[in-house]
Amino acid sequence: MSLRFWAKRLLKLALLGLVGGRAARGVAVLAYHSVDNSGSWLSISPNQLREHLQWLKDHHWQGLTIDQLLARLDGQPGSGREILITFDDGYENFLTNAVPVLKEMGFPATVFVVTDLVGKTSKWYEKERENIKKFVDGMSFPKKDRQVLDRMLEHFSQERLMSWEQLSRLEEFNVDVESHSCSHRFLSKLSAAELADELERSRGELQEKLGHASRTNCFSYVDFSSVVGKAAEAAGFEAGFLASLVTGAKEKNNRFALGRVGINGFYSKFDLRFALSQAAGLHQRIRRLIIR
Ligand SMILES: [Zn+2]
Repeated sequence: MSLRFWAKRLLKLALLGLVGGRAARGVAVLAYHSVDNSGSWLSISPNQLREHLQWLKDHHWQGLTIDQLLARLDGQPGSGREILITFDDGYENFLTNAVPVLKEMGFPATVFVVTDLVGKTSKWYEKERENIKKFVDGMSFPKKDRQVLDRMLEHFSQERLMSWEQLSRLEEFNVDVESHSCSHRFLSKLSAAELADELERSRGELQEKLGHASRTNCFSYVDFSSVVGKAAEAAGFEAGFLASLVTGAKEKNNRFALGRVGINGFYSKFDLRFALSQAAGLHQRIRRLIIR
């Protein structure tokens, strides 16, 4: 073996060690969407999910429930290597493709559901198509990624969502069902009355249909403002999640703007390791909240 080979290998190990070390201190939140074999931007295959969970298991990450995460936000110390695994939108494929893998691997999970559309389809991708495109334009996506987005919008506008009956069966698999608002709109664009309705009605519906209120809300499209956070608190939620770490980082000390790492099918288990090191930043946020 050449000196160059070993120098490179040592550098790689040092980098991985650094990443692993940062992650070890953290509470991370992962954001998955659809679990299917379509290869879309929002999808991960059941096999990839199994690979990710196996990696987490091998590296001694413990899955958290929503109650446990809220307890950490309130100051209860954790093991230092904890993860909240979340799935947005409530696709029917969560039940068929993700639940068996989560069960096999022994991880709890959280699903954020769009309460007006339970048992229907993900038609907001069609309805909000122009807003989503404008939003993505603002993020100056590479052209290639925009084409991927077009295909995703096409693919996802008809995806089936779980019914109330299916959602009520999730509890036995240690899955928390939480709010993703009523209709998956851009909340920061709504009037105060519409915003309150989206949040309060969603929370109330979950209480009525599943027998327990949702304690957290997940805001769609990385769309957040302090007004949205305050409205969620007024509606009775105890914390809120964003689909991005970057936006979350701008909202320090705000338990209604907890950043998540979005995971899609392009992530290998090595990318996951990197993502976790970023996600571990949430731990610092939790510490700040405790100290405050
Ligand atoms: Zn969503």
